[in-house]
Amino acid sequence: MTRPDLLQRLSAQAAAREQAGLRRRLRVVEQVEGPWLQADGRRLLGFCSNDYLGLAQHPALVDALKRAADSDGVGSASAHLICGHRREHAALEEALATWTGRERALLFSTGYMANLGTLQALLGRGDACIQDKLNHACLLDGAQLAGAELKRYPHADIDAAGRQLRSRPEAAALLATDGVFSMDGDTAPLRELAALCTSEGATLMVDDAHGLGVLGADGAGSVTAAGLTQADVPVLMATLGKALGCSGAFVAGPAGLIDGLTQFARTYVYTTAMPPALAAATHAAVVLAQQDSWRRERLTSLIARFRAGAHQLGLPLMASSSAIQPLLLGDAQAALDAARTLERQGLLVVAIRPPTVPQGQARLRITLSALHEDAHVDRLLDALGRLPGIGRSHA
Ligand SMILES: *Cc1c(COP(=O)(O)O)cnc(C)c1O
Repeated sequence: MTRPDLLQRLSAQAAAREQAGLRRRLRVVEQVEGPWLQADGRRLLGFCSNDYLGLAQHPALVDALKRAADSDGVGSASAHLICGHRREHAALEEALATWTGRERALLFSTGYMANLGTLQALLGRGDACIQDKLNHACLLDGAQLAGAELKRYPHADIDAAGRQLRSRPEAAALLATDGVFSMDGDTAPLRELAALCTSEGATLMVDDAHGLGVLGADGAGSVTAAGLTQADVPVLMATLGKALGCSGAFVAGPAGLIDGLTQFARTYVYTTAMPPALAAATHAAVVLAQQDSWRRERLTSLIARFRAGAHQLGLPLMASSSAIQPLLLGDAQAALDAARTLERQGLLVVAIRPPTVPQGQARLRITLSALHEDAHVDRLLDALGRLPGIGRSHA
């Protein structure tokens, strides 16, 4: 028999990844306390979680979860369209729509599923899907799942995006972009993209996984911060597992969009609704994220402190003003070595390597949280400054 064995092939691929020094490893985190976490029996100061506002362990969220679980139990026991749609879901959807200035919102179990389902519902064969090259993997996968023609423009290159749209003037077109790019931390040129979509008759979709809660006066995200409304960005997606400290995602927009997704988004229709207690906890997080502007102010001040210090040390900062502050090291092994050195000093910073980022662009993805103290940032800077081969002293 010449038929390839699938499991053998997969093992060979994993071995090749190991050979290339790109193997990923799981770590069991035993305990978390604010920015601190314990793994392998060691207490580490973490700079890698997406809990930007420090809400994941907030007592108001824990209380809401407990109270809802006491009255409703754990599982929703069904898909939304059967009998899994509870009052907690409905209330959360309403709060999310109001916060983001949209007519309606629809919950999904994860951001990955929200993007797959939304692109699959909106697009079909023959349609054009124009995307930034650095978009999150699930936006790219969604366009492929939909069978649309996927065109990827160089990062933030409006002219290239325009050329791609104009090359398919007859096709229905969706332009999709991350609001804040997950591995670079920079913000998409949303106003220019919105103007382009208006002039080309294309629909704009923004994935604001890293902007919601963090950007804009009341944390409504990158779209609001850019002064844009539902008319400019009819398809807004954001996740609940990052700044909101919970899990899940939603799409918000005009009633017709939400109704259509309810009918046709397969990752909405054919899956179990998120636990209602989780929706209740997320609702508490939405209230706090809007109210506690001190969390955003704190984050802004930590970001400024980190950038000023890193600049002084001559560290390879990227052009980001968000909570994601990557240091571009280039070589995957160098990034891994740097992460290991930091970990020996009790700091957990994760090396991001290809294929998550392009070849030659491995980096340390440093993330800050409102719960970090100034002294934490200073300790990180001190350790980074002493890493061999990265700071000014070694240039
Ligand atoms: C994290 C992330 C997602 C996926 O969201 P999950 O809820 O974790 O599945 C989608 N898009 C972007 C830009 C993200 O950063």
